[in-house]
Amino acid sequence: MKPMSAKTQAKDLLAWYDRHKRDLPWRQNTDPYRVWLSEIMLQQTTVPTVVPYFLKFLHHYPSVFDLANAPVENIMRDWAGLGYYSRARNLHKAAQQIVGQFNGLFPETEKELLGIAGIGPYTASALLAIAFNKPYVPLDGNLERVAARLFNIATPLPQAKPELRAALAPLFTHNAGDVAQALMDLATAICTPKKPKCVLCPLQKTCVAKAQNRAEELPVKATKAEKPKRYGYVYWIEQKSLVALERRPPKGLLGGMLGLPTSAWAEKFEHPAWAHSAAETGQQIEHVFTHFHLILKLCSLKKIPPVSIEWVALETVLAAGLPTVFKKAVKAFMTGKNQTPV
Ligand code: SF4
Repeated sequence: MKPMSAKTQAKDLLAWYDRHKRDLPWRQNTDPYRVWLSEIMLQQTTVPTVVPYFLKFLHHYPSVFDLANAPVENIMRDWAGLGYYSRARNLHKAAQQIVGQFNGLFPETEKELLGIAGIGPYTASALLAIAFNKPYVPLDGNLERVAARLFNIATPLPQAKPELRAALAPLFTHNAGDVAQALMDLATAICTPKKPKCVLCPLQKTCVAKAQNRAEELPVKATKAEKPKRYGYVYWIEQKSLVALERRPPKGLLGGMLGLPTSAWAEKFEHPAWAHSAAETGQQIEHVFTHFHLILKLCSLKKIPPVSIEWVALETVLAAGLPTVFKKAVKAFMTGKNQTPV
């Protein structure tokens, strides 16, 4: 392993990026609106899932002004299936802030960016680096992995974050946007969590973990507690080929989205007072959210619950913009009824 400056590392990395960069729709230019939209969508979501949503949003809302002026229900509907719905609500709020406070121009300081809904330290750094070429390190799980290996940092995550960021910073002094995206691509294609392809890596000559043959041991992660479980009922109410959907309250998990009516999601199964006549179908579905694991038992119900109900035709219910957990429930109900989900 030869000693090498950050400047040479960045040069080797960028030469590799020139030849191997992924052709992604948000990379056609570095307009801050596109960078921001893609970064919000990519939080907790994979690139192949995000691509069609990104294109749909650009088509429906070509500028931050279009997004700010759109009804929030349209944005929620277009977001359906992408998960983590607070991102969609914040997207709308943020667009209104950018239009109202900054005349539609994204601010170029970290402090101002952090004042915008849904923009945390990671997204602010990504915008500053990619859209404005400023020397900020957007440290996500991918960059953490490359940094831990390249500089052989064995401090467990998340405590290691400042150390990893500081170690990467010298690579970001020039062309920060390209360096950030090159590291993202390197982490996805070469410096993968398992079996990194070090022989193909442009940084192999300076990588300490490779030299010590311990790449797969890094990064070290603090052991995570198991996710708690929550339990509830989900109700199928059908009348004359129409299905009752609930518009969920605006705040909280899946807020503002359409779903099937449910009981509370709690430590044990418990019907609300209006659902005591519900009949269990014997099926259940499971869904994993960020902070808990949900188990829902399926029930059919004749009574109409005292919540905000919207009736939807049975054959179009899966096209109504339901979050994934409710799509699973609808498919399970339909399979139980021997109907093919559309
Ligand atoms: Fe990752 Fe291997 Fe490259 Fe080091 S040499 S950065 S471990 S792919």
